[in-house]
Amino acid sequence: MRMIDLIEKKRDGEALSEAEIQFFIQGVTQKKIPDYQIASLLMAIVLRGMTDDETADLTIAMANSGDVLDLSAIPGVKVDKHSTGGVGDKCTPILLPLLASFGVPVVKLSGRALGFTGGTIDKFESIEGFQCEIAPEAFPKHIEKCGMLLAGQSEKIAPADKALYALRDVTGTVPSIPLIASSIMSKKLSGGADAIVLDVTCGKGAFMKTLDDARKLAQMNMSIGKLCCRPVSCVISSMEQPLGHRVGNVLEMLEVMDVLHGHGQEDIVNVVSTLAAEMLLHTPYGEGKTSKALEGEAIAKLRTGEVNDKFIELILSQGGKIDSNGMPIFVERPCEIMKVMATKSGYISRCDALGVGEASVLLGAGRMKKTDAIDFGAGVEVHRKIGDYVNRGDVLYSLYKGSKATVDEDILSAALDKMENVFEICDEKTERPIEILDILR
Ligand code: URA
Repeated sequence: MRMIDLIEKKRDGEALSEAEIQFFIQGVTQKKIPDYQIASLLMAIVLRGMTDDETADLTIAMANSGDVLDLSAIPGVKVDKHSTGGVGDKCTPILLPLLASFGVPVVKLSGRALGFTGGTIDKFESIEGFQCEIAPEAFPKHIEKCGMLLAGQSEKIAPADKALYALRDVTGTVPSIPLIASSIMSKKLSGGADAIVLDVTCGKGAFMKTLDDARKLAQMNMSIGKLCCRPVSCVISSMEQPLGHRVGNVLEMLEVMDVLHGHGQEDIVNVVSTLAAEMLLHTPYGEGKTSKALEGEAIAKLRTGEVNDKFIELILSQGGKIDSNGMPIFVERPCEIMKVMATKSGYISRCDALGVGEASVLLGAGRMKKTDAIDFGAGVEVHRKIGDYVNRGDVLYSLYKGSKATVDEDILSAALDKMENVFEICDEKTERPIEILDILR
């Protein structure tokens, strides 16, 4: 088989066979195919698409490109949750202790920030001492100890996806439904979970810009799950504006603490409780209960302080440091470097998640390249969101850096450029957007 034949076949709109897809993925994993040929095929897939069968073959080949975890030594139904990426998305740090407080074991394999979207591992690593590198052999011990764990995805899990994702990120080949579906599902299948809940984000700050595309991606993930006998449900959530008010690692963890102390922003609580209910529906705890009832239980738990206690347990069990007030000790302190005021009064009709995500990355909260260091204290706080009223002169947003970091003038001005068109202020009141656009089971 020759790579050039596969590229030409896909360029001409034909479907690749299972053997051809396996040849491609083996070549990627064993580093036998040059990047320019891989990138050509990826672009042909972006432009020509893939059938459901091709997507399933690609997913399975990628899932089998490295280790496949066996979590059967951990009792109970292990439900994994994955987001297709968002701005200010801090659901996972809340969902882990929330599910554990229902007695449901959670093994969460997460990634780092890449592009304008944040990563859960970076958020937890903003806590002094927190260790995300846990060998799979140690998973049962962690679950026995505190009922949950958060681990970085090892190099050995779906290495083909790792290689392809790094190339897609720099060749304009991320936005493709079959490539995104196979990338997500290959990692979930090799991660060993019994059931999967996907938060498919949709809007300006997501890879899926329209509800139609988000539904297509959700359906494709569910068909792959069905083929592999792994139940999948998808929550389609809005990412028009950031989730909550803060974007950036420590800033977001502080907002997580607000939720865990019972005074979280309504949009975060809505998305978290919906995802929690979907996860619980896959477990014996959810049997015979409706998702509405489970959502109510999740919201009630968040008010009790029990979930906060679980969160502290999680941090301590993975080496993280807690101060005498029961708050995590962070590696950096966010310092406000600039406040920007509204230039007119009115209702906010736009708060563009993509602009906020890009500005945060520029300030150092994310990475432009995989090797970039993160400034854990950097980020953006939006003081008003869609539907809120603002008076001329009120603070609209603040930019942050870490206390030990310096921000050059040109970076600051590039971040301000990104923020320039984030907000629109109108005379007419715009309704607060709903967070949950659809649920597919
Ligand atoms: N998240 C993933 O894991 N892969 C993609 O391709 C996009 C989002």
